[in-house]
Amino acid sequence: MPRLISRTLAIGLLALLAACATAPKVAKNTSKTFTTVVVDAGHGGKDNGAYRRYGPPEKVVALDVAQRLDRNLRESELKTVMTRSTDVFIPLDQRVAIENSQKNAIFVSIHFNDSRRRGVHGFETYYHSGDSSELANRIQSKLMTIPHSMNRGVHTANFRVLRLAYYPAVLVECGFLSNRSEGNQARDAEYRELLSERIAEAIVEQRYGPGVYHASPQVAAAQPQPASTGQGPAPAAPHH
Ligand SMILES: [Zn+2]
Repeated sequence: MPRLISRTLAIGLLALLAACATAPKVAKNTSKTFTTVVVDAGHGGKDNGAYRRYGPPEKVVALDVAQRLDRNLRESELKTVMTRSTDVFIPLDQRVAIENSQKNAIFVSIHFNDSRRRGVHGFETYYHSGDSSELANRIQSKLMTIPHSMNRGVHTANFRVLRLAYYPAVLVECGFLSNRSEGNQARDAEYRELLSERIAEAIVEQRYGPGVYHASPQVAAAQPQPASTGQGPAPAAPHH
């Protein structure tokens, strides 16, 4: 059968070459297998995002939540890549390029919302491909466990960073800066930590299942520490 095998190999190689040639169009459903999370802080530099004169612009609070999310994910033994870690302008195409250059990733973009109607408030999560829907719903559900949170739903959208992604990609709107209550919360570091915790928990659950996520030491330190034996089950995350 060697001839058959080599023929199969040749066809396989041709298929592979064809796949490589069209690689930018191939979506990969890594929603259960991802090893890297690309954390995208919305806006930056000359692009303030939502802006209210009584608080920091969206680019600042989005970066802070993204950095906290990045830390929480790394503590959960996931690899992370940030599209920006300082106040710089990154064009959308560059964000997509960073995202798509990873090997086995998902993409999570952090934003805050804005409305002319100051009463509008709540969380929204967006996705584009069906492969991203489960992750989007999971993040939204976890955000809804925050007391007094308002559910504005999970929606599909044609945002560039979602549409051009090879991998599952979601965009989270962490509340309205234009709303008095959510604007005040966004200015509170403890609340931003809570947002990042909930999003991290959703991502870890998406990858490893429920009950694996452990709150970061920063949050745990604020609570009474249990005796050294009561640590609960070890995370199922791989140790490399
Ligand atoms: Zn934004």
